[in-house]
Amino acid sequence: MQTIDGKSLSAEILEELRRQVASLSGPPPCVAFIRVGEDPASVYYVGAKQKKAAAVGMESRLLTFPESISQEDLLAEVAALNSNPDVHGILVQAPLPAHIDEKTVFNRVAPEKDVDGFSATNLGRLVQEDPAAFVACTPAGIVEIVRSYGIETEGRHVVVLGRSLIVGKPAALLFMRKAAFANATVTVCHSRTRDLAAITRSADLLIAAIGRPAFVTADMVRDGATVIDVGINRVEDASRKRGYRLQGDVDYGKVAPKCAAITPVPGGVGPMTVAMLLRNTLKAAYGPFSISPP
Ligand code: NDP
Repeated sequence: MQTIDGKSLSAEILEELRRQVASLSGPPPCVAFIRVGEDPASVYYVGAKQKKAAAVGMESRLLTFPESISQEDLLAEVAALNSNPDVHGILVQAPLPAHIDEKTVFNRVAPEKDVDGFSATNLGRLVQEDPAAFVACTPAGIVEIVRSYGIETEGRHVVVLGRSLIVGKPAALLFMRKAAFANATVTVCHSRTRDLAAITRSADLLIAAIGRPAFVTADMVRDGATVIDVGINRVEDASRKRGYRLQGDVDYGKVAPKCAAITPVPGGVGPMTVAMLLRNTLKAAYGPFSISPP
């Protein structure tokens, strides 16, 4: 069994990005983050993304707004960033308050600055297999793992657990492309799927993105499969100083011995997401000249 080291892989990608940014003759790429409210996970994620941006020599800006901001005012802020030539990439951190429609906000981000890849334009480009597409960062990170570890997907059965706009759907689209490290037969499962375990047991590559701690158990995975665990769930743990630990969607201890390869949580998919965001930001600023699209 091979443990997939997303932390090391992301560090390699970030180092490559740092070199690319250092060699630019123009201004450093700049990504703007919009955060609404003080959700602790959002505060942490945006802070981590800003730190990594600085580490590779990119600029970042953080715009924070109270939960009470209206959708109209938020859309005006997005529009201002769209027309600001100093800002190359825009990321609106989800979740947004209930009175704001996330899709409307994602669709307002200019497609050429949509480094999260959530706009209808970029999702449409992904469906069309257009290399100009900005691909959502977590699914792009999964493809990068598969490419770097040389995991064969052609003609294989890829099962995606979860059909969210952020992970499940784009992941399924990526693996069904006519492309290297794709060309898979893809099945997408969700909360209404019948006989889920029978489907997951036939997966050569199983991608779990459902947000249920340790949901995927050993009997749901066939011997020799590769498992990518996207889940990041906080579970109470009195033995930890902070009172919780991070747990993936996969019961790692029992599933790992059966696998050819598996990502741990933390240290698997998570770090790849940030690396792909910064790769998208470089692409937004300077084009895909040295970036192989996922
Ligand atoms: P969503 O809640 O948006 O989607 C969850 C999906 O899982 C839905 O499609 C849902 O089905 C499906 N699902 C839920 N319960 C079951 C079940 N019992 N059986 C089968 N399917 C089920 O989650 P996200 O896609 O945003 O995130 C998934 C996980 O990935 C979370 O733990 C999140 O924290 C993590 N994540 C990690 C990232 C990283 O960087 N590593 C980035 C983004 C997310 P239905 O559609 O029918 O409701």
